[in-house]
Amino acid sequence: MPLYIEKKPEVLITEEGIRTDGRKPRELRPVRMTVGILDKADGSAFIEWGGNRILAAVFGPREVHPKHLVLPDKALIRARYNMAPFSTPERKRPGPDRRSIELSKVIREALRPAIFVENYPGSVIDIFIEVLRSDAGTRVAGVNAASMALANAGIAMKGLVAACAVGRVGDFVICDPNHDEDMWGDADMPMAMLMESEEITLLQTDGPMTESQFKEALELGRNAIRFLYEMQKEALKRPYQVIERSVRGD
Ligand code: UDP
Repeated sequence: MPLYIEKKPEVLITEEGIRTDGRKPRELRPVRMTVGILDKADGSAFIEWGGNRILAAVFGPREVHPKHLVLPDKALIRARYNMAPFSTPERKRPGPDRRSIELSKVIREALRPAIFVENYPGSVIDIFIEVLRSDAGTRVAGVNAASMALANAGIAMKGLVAACAVGRVGDFVICDPNHDEDMWGDADMPMAMLMESEEITLLQTDGPMTESQFKEALELGRNAIRFLYEMQKEALKRPYQVIERSVRGD
């Protein structure tokens, strides 16, 4: 029996364009990025974005197992997107499902063009994305975190990949849909770009848009992605610092 029943908000966006979380159509939710937080990974990053909390870990280049997957002239890139059972309003059954398999594939394809795979023949680079708390937009948040984790692991890259979703609610094209908008809105369009060249490496859409709405969404996404890219660069330049204090008992 479901413990949690989702209710559609009466108004998703007001006539003045105010959204359920008080944002204007073109606003992003608050974002916080931290790089290098896992000791045992070669590279890692953590992203907090709205209600999303997502960890990315990169291992490699390292030896490929099983051996038959070895690509003699380039690196094998593997990505695994996983949602923790406690990351959703209703407990998610642990382990892979169709959605996580699809998301692992699109995330891998969004990131792979950024990596100089020829530099690492016969090896594998593993990317793990663990969703600890979800609030829509987890695939794009995962791409941002994974891209930083790759850079943090010292993997040779053409550039960072940054990502953001855009969408539509009624007549409004919106930036960074939240859970309600993802669930009850009219269209959702996650996108990612390989920066520097601004080549689009991920573009999906699951709802109707007119041509002009689509163009507006694309431009909105592009601008948001540029903003996130600046944050990524800043986060990578700022090494993670542990604040540690011990209480003296005197
Ligand atoms: N979601 C959920 N349970 C699931 C899958 C998804 O509650 O089994 C929620 C979660 O908050 C997720 C959102 O639905 O972020 C939107 O999921 P979608 O498949 O559109 O991917 P995302 O927007 O996270 O990339």
